[in-house]
Amino acid sequence: MHNSTDFRIGNYRPIYLWAGPGTIRMNKLKFMQVEVDENVHHEAHQFKGADLVVNDLYQNWIHLTYSWGFPPEIEKEDWQSFEGATCEYHKLGAKVFAYIQSSNCVYSGSFKEKDWYAITPKGKKVYYYTGRYMTCFQNITWINYLKERIQDAINRGADGIFFDNLWYGLQPNALFRTWLGAAGCFCSACQEKYQLETGKSTPILINLHKKEVLDYIQWRSQKMTLVIQQLSEFARSLKSDIIISANDYDPVMRPVKLIFGIDFQSLAKIQDVTMIENFALPKWVDRNEKILVNNTITVRNTQLYLPQQKHLCVLSYDTGIGFDPVYPTRRILTGMAEAAALGCSMTSKGTEYHDGKKMTLLTAPEYGEQQIAIGNLHHWLQDH
Ligand SMILES: [Zn+2]
Repeated sequence: MHNSTDFRIGNYRPIYLWAGPGTIRMNKLKFMQVEVDENVHHEAHQFKGADLVVNDLYQNWIHLTYSWGFPPEIEKEDWQSFEGATCEYHKLGAKVFAYIQSSNCVYSGSFKEKDWYAITPKGKKVYYYTGRYMTCFQNITWINYLKERIQDAINRGADGIFFDNLWYGLQPNALFRTWLGAAGCFCSACQEKYQLETGKSTPILINLHKKEVLDYIQWRSQKMTLVIQQLSEFARSLKSDIIISANDYDPVMRPVKLIFGIDFQSLAKIQDVTMIENFALPKWVDRNEKILVNNTITVRNTQLYLPQQKHLCVLSYDTGIGFDPVYPTRRILTGMAEAAALGCSMTSKGTEYHDGKKMTLLTAPEYGEQQIAIGNLHHWLQDH
């Protein structure tokens, strides 16, 4: 196991840095041919980008793109790019997480032949943004494919595995005081397993007053936790000191167990370091009605769910993926300071920015002021 002091405020300085050829391709797929600053996305995987991130921003755990879920015939260049980038970051003393898209894949090429997709009660596949479908967490072929990816990422130098989007099948939507749509997956494997283990059939309507619905929601989250546990054990069997982390979303302000099947408390036990997205950079709004946006309730309550000695970090943003420009320096520093004051680290959002014209990264040359300020605060946090 790792030394627990590695994961403390100031010592653990992670950054989301999805880049390389896979991220350029994913941006174009996700945002329908949006312009992408390709140069800056390639540079982040090369010495110049690594030097900036490690020595100027002073980040030491780099979340790198490994698998966005493109079929292997397309994605193999991303795996190679990950390996090259990992080598550059390692030379500078930083560690890397391999990003693994865990619950969906791109519907193209050889993946069109697969039978691993999550299924609605009406027998249809479940959309995930454009060009992608949700996969099923009970499908053995999909789980084995994830294991292949974990093994390959470790062979290519990963120090950590980062599981994104732990979502099990369909997500019900809140409308007024009811929930619309079903939860989970209605493929034959899921149906049979639920029938076998509980003697019941999967409920289609999410009526939270019914015990059978609550039982099913509980079962669904238990099954997903079990899968993540098995994948993590597999990773640790290959490399005993591999660090496991995941995007756990916000377990306090949102009913993530119901919507996604995320049981934060159980998942936190499996991970070495947890990350939640809290969707809110702190800010003060000075209007007629004064508003202070902050994350105290989310962070403090989440920490109560964590096993002792485990570290929390947060990823904060305004609108979200692909819609925000790079934030002004003062706002980034406020977010980092808030996280530190609340006893957690902030994962720097280095990627998925849109500057009004194109998708860009925090490492682009026009954000020199932000880069220096982040580096300075990281040094201060480490020293204090
Ligand atoms: Zn299924």
